[in-house]
Amino acid sequence: MREKDTRYVRTYSEDYGRFEQVKTELRERFRIWCSANDVRYNKYGRTANAPSLEDAIRAFTRQNLDIDMAVREYIAQFREKSRSDNDAMEAALREATHEPTAFDRLREEVIDQGICNGCGSCAAVCTANCIRIAGGTPLQIEGDENEQELGKICLDCGVCMMACPKTSLLIPEVEEKWGTPSNVWVRVARSTDNGILSVCQDGGIVTSLLWYAMDRGIINSTVVIGNEDWKPVPKIVTQYQDLLNTAGSKYSPSASFSVLSPQDAIIKAVQHMPRDWIKLGFVGTPCQILAARKMQVPGSEGVVLSPSDRIKLTIGLFCMEQFNPELVDHIGVDKSEIKKLNVKKEGLIVTLRDGRQITVPHRELKKFVRGSCKVCTDFTSKYADISVGSVGSPEGWSTVIVRTELGREVYMRALGDGFIVEPAIESPVYDLIDTMTAKKASRAENSQITMKT
Ligand SMILES: Cc1cc2nc3c(=O)[nH]c(=O)nc-3n(C[C@H](O)[C@H](O)[C@H](O)COP(=O)(O)OP(=O)(O)OC[C@H]3O[C@@H](n4cnc5c(N)ncnc54)[C@H](O)[C@@H]3O)c2cc1C
Ligand code: SF4
Ligand code: SF4
Ligand code: SF4
Repeated sequence: MREKDTRYVRTYSEDYGRFEQVKTELRERFRIWCSANDVRYNKYGRTANAPSLEDAIRAFTRQNLDIDMAVREYIAQFREKSRSDNDAMEAALREATHEPTAFDRLREEVIDQGICNGCGSCAAVCTANCIRIAGGTPLQIEGDENEQELGKICLDCGVCMMACPKTSLLIPEVEEKWGTPSNVWVRVARSTDNGILSVCQDGGIVTSLLWYAMDRGIINSTVVIGNEDWKPVPKIVTQYQDLLNTAGSKYSPSASFSVLSPQDAIIKAVQHMPRDWIKLGFVGTPCQILAARKMQVPGSEGVVLSPSDRIKLTIGLFCMEQFNPELVDHIGVDKSEIKKLNVKKEGLIVTLRDGRQITVPHRELKKFVRGSCKVCTDFTSKYADISVGSVGSPEGWSTVIVRTELGREVYMRALGDGFIVEPAIESPVYDLIDTMTAKKASRAENSQITMKT
C-alpha cells in the first residue's frame, strides 16, 4: 500500500513537471512574440489602445502556425466565455495542450475507479469553487458566463487531490501528526440524558459529547448528518434539539464537507468573521476524518486548507462499510416506517415504528457495499480526537477511544459533569476491535479494485 503511494506521488510530480515545461515554453513563445510584434497587452483590457490578453493570445496563435490546431480552436471558444486574466490564460493553454489537470486525475484515479465515497471534501477545498457534488459524485463546473463571477475555472492547484481521502497524498504527514498518539484510552460509556438515549444508535456518546462541547463553549456548532427518508443530509447545527434530530446511524454516503464548501450559505455568511469565532465539531466515518486531517496538515507558514481551520473537535465513528442508497429500497417497506437501521453480526437489523424487526443477512448486503469501502483499511477512525462504536461493548453502551489532549479534556469533563457515565466493572473487549480492524484490512488487501493512488 505504502509502496503504491510512493510510486503514485512520483508519477504525479513527473507529469506535472512535464506539464510545467509545456506551459513555460508556450508562455515564453508568447512573450517573445509579443515583444517582436510590439504587443503590450493589457491584462484587464481596460486601456483603449492596448489589446486585451485574450486578443493578444488570439493574434499570437494566428501568427504561430506551428502551435497545435487545438490551441487556436480552444482559445477561440475560450474567448467567448472567459474573462481575460492570467488564470484563464493558463487554463486555456492547459486545455489546448490536453494536459490533465489535478481534477482530471481525481476523476480518473478515484471517481472512475469507483472508490469515491462522495464525502465532498474536494468540493469544499476547491480553490476555484468549481466542483459540485451531484448524486454523490463530484462534477467539475465549466466556467460559463454567469458563473465567471465565482472564478469557476480550474486553476490546477491540486488541493482537491490532496484533500481526497482516496489518494495517498499527505497520508505520511497525517500519519506523522495524528497516527501515533502517545496516550490512548479505550473506555465503555453511555449517555445519561434520556432524550439522547431515546434516539441514539448505541450509547449516545457521540451526541452527548457534541452537546457537552457545545454547552461548555469548546465548540459553538457542529457538522452532523440528518435523515431525509434515510438519505443522509449533512447539516451545521447549534442546538440540543437539532442534535436529537440527527442522532443515529445512516448507512449510506454523506457529502458531509458540502456544508463547509464556499458555496454553502452558512459558510458564505461567516467567511469574513475572525477564524477563531467559528469552532466546529465534526462527526464522520474514518474516511471523512482522514479528509479533515489531510486538510489540517500545515502547509507553508503553518497555513491549513480552509475550511478545516474551523474544525476544532473531530469525533470519528467505527466503520466497517457503507451501502449504496438502493439498499433501503431493497428492504421492501415504506421508508417512513423505518425507525432504526443497525448493522450487527446477523446482518442489517431494520426496526420498524410498530416494533417489528426485519433482518437483511450479510450475504444480501454484499451487493450494496460501496466500492470505496472495499479498499478501506481504517476501522476505528484512527486519526480522530475521539472515536466511538459499538463493537467491544454491551448492547446500549459505546466503545470510546480517546486519543488527543482535546479528546481527553472533552471526555473527562463530560464524565465529571455527569453528561456521560461509565459502568462499574465493564471494560471493552479489545479482541473484537482488533478482529474487525484485521478483517477490514484483509478485505482491502483481497479487493478486486485497486487503488491507483
Ligand atoms: C456507515 C457507518 C458504519 C458503521 N459501522 C460500524 C461498525 O461496523 N461497527 C461499530 O461498532 N460501529 C459502527 N458504526 C458506528 C455506530 O453505528 C454508531 O454511530 C456509533 O456507535 C455511535 O453511537 P452513538 O449512540 O454514540 O451515536 P449517536 O449519539 O446516535 O450519534 C450518531 C452520530 O453519527 C452521525 N452520523 C450518522 N450517520 C452518519 C454517516 N453516514 N456519516 C457520518 N456521520 C453519521 C450523526 O450525525 C450523529 O452525530 C457505523 C456508523 C456508520 C455511520
Ligand atoms: S481544487 Fe484546484 S485543481 Fe482541483 S478542481 Fe479546484 S481549482 Fe482545479
Ligand atoms: S472521495 Fe471525497 S474528496 Fe475524493 S473524489 Fe470523492 S467526494 Fe471528492
Ligand atoms: S468503510 Fe471506509 S470508505 Fe467506507 S464509509 Fe467507512 S470509512 Fe468510509
